[in-house]
Amino acid sequence: MERYEADVAIIGAGPAGTAAAAHLGALGVERVVLVDRHDFPRDKTCGSGISPKGIKTLQKLGVWDEVAPHAYPIRGLRLVTPGGLESWQSGGEAAEAVVCYRRILDHVLLKKALASGTRFVADFDAAEAIEEGGRMVGFKSRAGDEVRARHTLVAGGSHCRVGLPALRPRRVIQAIMGWWDHAEFRPHHVEMIFDRMLDPYYGWLFPETETRVNIGITYEDPPDGKKNARELFRAFLDKHYAGALANATQVGGWRGHPIVWSYAIEQLTAPGRIAIGESGLMTHPATAEGIYQGMRSGMLGAEAVASILSGRADEAAALARYERECKRAFQLSFWGGGVFRGLVRNGGLDFVVGLSQQPAVRTITARLMASM
Ligand SMILES: Cc1cc2nc3c(=O)[nH]c(=O)nc-3n(C[C@H](O)[C@H](O)[C@H](O)COP(=O)(O)OP(=O)(O)OC[C@H]3O[C@@H](n4cnc5c(N)ncnc54)[C@H](O)[C@@H]3O)c2cc1C
Repeated sequence: MERYEADVAIIGAGPAGTAAAAHLGALGVERVVLVDRHDFPRDKTCGSGISPKGIKTLQKLGVWDEVAPHAYPIRGLRLVTPGGLESWQSGGEAAEAVVCYRRILDHVLLKKALASGTRFVADFDAAEAIEEGGRMVGFKSRAGDEVRARHTLVAGGSHCRVGLPALRPRRVIQAIMGWWDHAEFRPHHVEMIFDRMLDPYYGWLFPETETRVNIGITYEDPPDGKKNARELFRAFLDKHYAGALANATQVGGWRGHPIVWSYAIEQLTAPGRIAIGESGLMTHPATAEGIYQGMRSGMLGAEAVASILSGRADEAAALARYERECKRAFQLSFWGGGVFRGLVRNGGLDFVVGLSQQPAVRTITARLMASM
């Protein structure tokens, strides 16, 4: 059995955990242990779209120059409303967002964390928190290995519940997706299709390279049962992409994965622990975006523990500040996401897109989506 000692331990090496580790290094915190149940590089089921705010965060973390050569620039959006209106928005030459395959993005972030002094332990499946006197002091793996730490950042994403400060009510967006080579698509444009069969969510086409796209759907299950994800995805593909995929080759199988979220940004901390990223339910209620929120909350979590370790703040104050900063970063856009879900359901999106056919308000929907 192995035993690791750290000032800060992190469960999960997705965007949240790796951004936290890299930022801790930049803040001068030295004894950081990051564990993941996988070795890297590894795949993550994800559309891999990175918003303008996500790009800025990658720049702050000092990894944008490494990500950019692997990222496919997005300069426009095709939007289809539940009523069937179609709108194309193009933003000119500058890339407003990118798509970067998660196998690459997460590995770049991990390498930044390693270069900042983080110790990475692969194939460590965290199974149980270790608590002493009401405080989390570490965690154990399924194999019996142990990490002891003064502070733990919980960044295990949607499936992992180990060490969460609180088991809060979580809402679930279901998602299923696949990859295709040589599909027909307009270069440098993402597509979002708000079809009533997915209400209030959408299906998407995101180009990852000149020749490869990922296509997927997000939807909610009804309170009293489960929709058949594969049947729903098949119906969506037949309705919207039969032509575009006629001469395409599917790459690998379809993959499903839930996305968890909450409007409430609270109960993210308890003595010895902080939830960051999707572990803290910080994904966008309307778009299901979580890469930016993961990295940003990871950086805020790193700043909280760095301030405690350096003696600049006591723990209670630093944890309260972390929660306030997360609210400041995300609350408005999460509430905006709630308004947007309503717009999709009650015909408002059709109204807005109808208006945007007039040149004076042409970019209104693109702006609305980008500002979320
Ligand atoms: C189909 C789909 C499409 C999406 N598309 C987009 C998109 O285009 N853009 C966007 O911004 N967001 C998208 N999201 C959301 C985004 O993928 C997540 O919100 C984001 O990855 C959350 O980052 P995270 O670091 O919190 O968690 P994750 O990225 O989930 O990382 C968690 C890590 O923890 C590890 N782990 C889990 N349990 C344990 C354990 N017990 N012990 C050790 N390690 C553990 C996992 O192996 C993983 O590496 C999508 C999600 C899905 C499902």
